[in-house]
Amino acid sequence: MRFKRLREFNLALLAKQGWRILANPLSLVSRILKARYFPSVNFLDAPLGHNPSYIWRSIRASQDLLRKGVMRRVSDGKDTAVWGQPWLLDITNPCLLTHEIEELKDARVSNLLDGNGRWDEELIRDIFYPQDVPRILATPVSPEYEDSWCCKVPPKICNFMWRCVMNVLPVRENLRSKRVFVGGGCPLCSVDMETITHILCECPVAMCLWDCTDILQGKTFVHFVESVYEKPDAHDAVLMATRFWTCWLARNDKVWHGKTWSSSTLKERVTQLVIQWQRDVHVNTATNQSSNPPPATWSPPPNGLLKCNVDATVAENF
Ligand SMILES: [Zn+2]
Repeated sequence: MRFKRLREFNLALLAKQGWRILANPLSLVSRILKARYFPSVNFLDAPLGHNPSYIWRSIRASQDLLRKGVMRRVSDGKDTAVWGQPWLLDITNPCLLTHEIEELKDARVSNLLDGNGRWDEELIRDIFYPQDVPRILATPVSPEYEDSWCCKVPPKICNFMWRCVMNVLPVRENLRSKRVFVGGGCPLCSVDMETITHILCECPVAMCLWDCTDILQGKTFVHFVESVYEKPDAHDAVLMATRFWTCWLARNDKVWHGKTWSSSTLKERVTQLVIQWQRDVHVNTATNQSSNPPPATWSPPPNGLLKCNVDATVAENF
């Protein structure tokens, strides 16, 4: 593993810790770090602070990476800034196009709701660019819940992308290299070697999704993925993940069920997935918040006994 890969590998692991701090503000470690380093802001805006510990310095290094993959899930809008935070229910571009208005720079999303907890359409049309108005009005709100952070794409897709880049997806060449005998090459075309690069970028199925015959343009698969992730706008990264995932679904449907997807089915599936992920962001609001246990209160141990406080997380989505 080259040094650059090692650094990115570490950053990805640290971003996972950063995500836990952001998504689980009531966990013991989140509360300790918040009290020490960012009492009045969220993890993404937390400064390095004075005399930071090695652990805090390391986790904070993942802020930029994390910022690209998360967005606000608006509920009552009270904790979400209108400008400066990604909150629109558009996972490809959850930020406003309207430039910040100086007098309203501290406004919260809740300020855009009327007394019944619905969007104040007249106010919104007055303030924002016409392109932003339908995007705001399409963003659901649930005044009975609090705002929270969520991933732009489901955790299983993050995991899938990770396996692609680490070259551990079970395509036939990878299975063969592990001495698992599988016959044939690409299940979708006549090429005699099925690699990750082929199935996601070089296969005619992939080309049809990208409307392009040279997706990589001379880059390696990993460098291509990096170049997309490095773009400041997350739109292309979300689209790339959706296309790769669709290729993988089509490939598996062929391998396991003998089904062939037409180019229109493939493209339709990409559109559906983006819509479905957006919807899931909203649906999860109710399930996540209603299933959160009430915060535990600490009590001292009885006299003569010691108490050891620990914290742990169980990932439900893997
Ligand atoms: Zn192929």
